[in-house]
Amino acid sequence: MALVAIVGRPNVGKSTLFNRFIEDRTSIVHDEPGVTRDRIYGRLTWNGRTVDLVDTGGYTTQDDDQFTAAIREQVRIAIDETDAILFVVDARSGINPLDEDVSSLLRRTDKPVFIVANKSDNDAYRLASTEHYGLGLGTVYPISALNGSGTGELLDDLMAALPPGGDEDDPDTTRLAIIGRPNVGKSSLTNALLGEDRTIVSNISGTTRDAIDSPLTYFGRKVVLVDTAGLRRRAKVTENVEFYAQLRTQRAIESCDVALLMIDAKDGLEAQDIRILIDAAEQKKGLVIVVNKWDTVEKDTHSTKAAIKAIRDRIPTLGFAPILFISAKTRQRIGNVLKVALQVADNRELKVPTRQLNEFLKEAVTKQAPPRHRHVPVKLNYITQVNVAPPVFAIFCNYPEAIKESYRRFLDNQLRMRFNFEGVPVTFRFRSKHKSKAS
Ligand code: GDP
Ligand code: GDP
Repeated sequence: MALVAIVGRPNVGKSTLFNRFIEDRTSIVHDEPGVTRDRIYGRLTWNGRTVDLVDTGGYTTQDDDQFTAAIREQVRIAIDETDAILFVVDARSGINPLDEDVSSLLRRTDKPVFIVANKSDNDAYRLASTEHYGLGLGTVYPISALNGSGTGELLDDLMAALPPGGDEDDPDTTRLAIIGRPNVGKSSLTNALLGEDRTIVSNISGTTRDAIDSPLTYFGRKVVLVDTAGLRRRAKVTENVEFYAQLRTQRAIESCDVALLMIDAKDGLEAQDIRILIDAAEQKKGLVIVVNKWDTVEKDTHSTKAAIKAIRDRIPTLGFAPILFISAKTRQRIGNVLKVALQVADNRELKVPTRQLNEFLKEAVTKQAPPRHRHVPVKLNYITQVNVAPPVFAIFCNYPEAIKESYRRFLDNQLRMRFNFEGVPVTFRFRSKHKSKAS
């Protein structure tokens, strides 16, 4: 899915425009110090096309020099990371030196750039906005984020200018996202799997990024490694780097079938990793935990077991995710990565016949019945799988609201003992009684 950035100096109306355009938003929140929490992205649909929109937000620094540098860098990263840019200026205030500065950067990119002269609330301001043709970036779009005027035309032209959509929905392709903190070895593994160095150096901004969506074939199966590698060379404003790294992780998770969370064997699972895992699990993606740099760990007979326990203890609800120990550097057990990830992708596609499911349910209930609801027995009458990839099971019962998390977990565990859902989050939906066989 295409990504569009809104850039511009503070107070021109970027967030007002963002809020007008998007339907639902995702906050990019994390604990890193100095990272603004309010930079967000959301989804925008227009003329049947959906894109992601990112509001790059403002800066708080007081220092004029730093301020200009920060905005410049933000624009440079936006040029690298996104497919089109909405450059918002204030129609009422004429051309600001900072606008000129930003324009000089934007003139160097081939990507579509739209000058959005915001606050053109009436004809007089629309006329005044023509001054911004002086920025040398082509058509000026006079709009009002406040009353919506002019935004339709802007969106028409934006959608028309975007590159055609990708093949994310190709059902024959399994999309794997290798995610994790910087330096854990994501690029090393990607390169090892691809058998060549695909790292591309971008000459525009002084940052390096990996190729987007690298395809490969594994025993005749089509696989795509979703791009996540993030910005390599440190940008000056770390919050920019952090923000886009997070944005990329978020988008990679959204577009993948299986998320491979990579960690460094020396560091173990950190809070940020757990957040990513939970995020991926909530999005019902397949999960694999890859412990890399296993070559750096002094091992004895208990090392693997102890490492597994340390991870499991931290994420008790994600015990279904397989854990692999590899070394991307020595290529030790990297073959296993694709094998396991594709097995998880297959598990996610598993469709269990209704008869087998009901046998399973009967046994599970015999083992442990759900707790009573106001002294009345809770009966689970019937189960059927209503969705694959991700798997969703509907269970019909007399008091759906009475089923608590603990019993859901019990059923989840029982299900996994019988059917191979390794690495796959499963969903149970309890519904009121409908097909009554048992009661
Ligand atoms: P940002 O810092 O670029 O994100 O700007 P904001 O979206 O926070 O807007 C700055 C100010 O401009 C707020 O007071 C908005 O209400 C106001 N504003 C935004 N869009 C418009 C517009 O189209 N017309 C007018 N008159 N005011 C606007
Ligand atoms: P990324 O930022 O997650 O993409 O990490 P890189 O792939 O760039 O790796 C970061 C550093 O860790 C590099 O210096 C790699 O050579 C090193 N590295 C990656 N995998 C391994 C590994 O399995 N063992 C060891 N010892 N070093 C590794």
